[in-house]
Amino acid sequence: KKRIGVMTSGGDSQGMNGVVRSVVRMAIHMGCEAYAVYEGYDGLVQGGDLIKQMHWDDVRGFLSRGGTLIGTKRCMEFYERPGRVKAAKNMIERGMDALIICGGDGSLTGADKFRSEWPGLLEELVKTGELKQEQIEPYQHLNICGLVGSIDNDMSGTDATIGCYSSLERICEMVDAVFDTAASHKRGFVIEVMGRHCGWLALMASIATGADYVFIPEKPPGVGWEEEMCDIVTSHRSWGKRRTIIIISEGAQDTELKKITADQVVNVLTEKLNLDTRKTVLGHIQRGGLPSYFDRWLSTLQGVEAVNAILDATPETKTPVITIRENKIERSDLQECVALTKSVAEAIKQKDFAKAMKLRDVEFKE
Ligand code: ADP
Repeated sequence: KKRIGVMTSGGDSQGMNGVVRSVVRMAIHMGCEAYAVYEGYDGLVQGGDLIKQMHWDDVRGFLSRGGTLIGTKRCMEFYERPGRVKAAKNMIERGMDALIICGGDGSLTGADKFRSEWPGLLEELVKTGELKQEQIEPYQHLNICGLVGSIDNDMSGTDATIGCYSSLERICEMVDAVFDTAASHKRGFVIEVMGRHCGWLALMASIATGADYVFIPEKPPGVGWEEEMCDIVTSHRSWGKRRTIIIISEGAQDTELKKITADQVVNVLTEKLNLDTRKTVLGHIQRGGLPSYFDRWLSTLQGVEAVNAILDATPETKTPVITIRENKIERSDLQECVALTKSVAEAIKQKDFAKAMKLRDVEFKE
């Protein structure tokens, strides 16, 4: 019986539990055994109680729960080869040679590195006498499959990451709540949302709530944005708007890559327009709460596809990541998606914002 491990890694997002449930049940359905690796790569490196066999009933109720019930952690040891050797040993000792990882681009990069070093990691264990040659023989190929779990929707090659729509929904609810008080007092609010390198949440939230102005890292406002923003706010007010909502991504910056902070925006509105303006940082509220219908659906279908991808894999298969494009669940090349994601970050670093937006597949008109 094939033994398939499932793990959640990196920042948590709504829908990760749906992935665990779906992978466990699909694995069992296909005649395999399922194992949960707790606490991300730390569980794989430490082994012991952190790797547990999962049965059908063990994931009951997972679909509607937020966060990740099997835990996630940043793991420094896994960045280094000795950590990955320990991880390989833990897998072989449990007879596991397949792993499904739900995480962000860092987690998926780590997974692909792990696979590329296999079976060298095992040979190292034979050399040091920790494993016997006969023990490693049946495990010459490691099968890895990635799933993208992230609230930021920051992975290229997929239209939506698991968690992004739940997070967007939460943001909209919170902005609506702020709206009420803003309108009552005719105030301005600057609302900071997550997305260190990706402005998707800020951009989508600003459209969905009818915000007055938005700051995202990929399309910084030009020189003189202060006047532009104030002019827009003033004209909106002159049309009878009683409240002003500005959405700012935590990664907002100007064209010189200098950070634009929510406080800075508050000060501009207060000083230039004499507008009573407050700041609201939504913070971790955006990660929590119930997964939306979409993330339950996406995590379930992608978990099923991940198990299928593992079972279809041959030694020649490139490491897949499960994506969604135009509403179709697909298998994509993990390395390609990670490289494309990194090239967006690189374009931003080079201040080539037009290229960054093109790589993100968004067209902006000036
Ligand atoms: P995310 O998956 O959300 O991008 P991180 O970048 O923090 O989050 O990655 C999560 C974990 O994945 C790290 O703590 C580390 O254990 C592992 N990891 C990330 N990048 C690599 C890498 N280049 N090599 C090996 N392991 C990595």
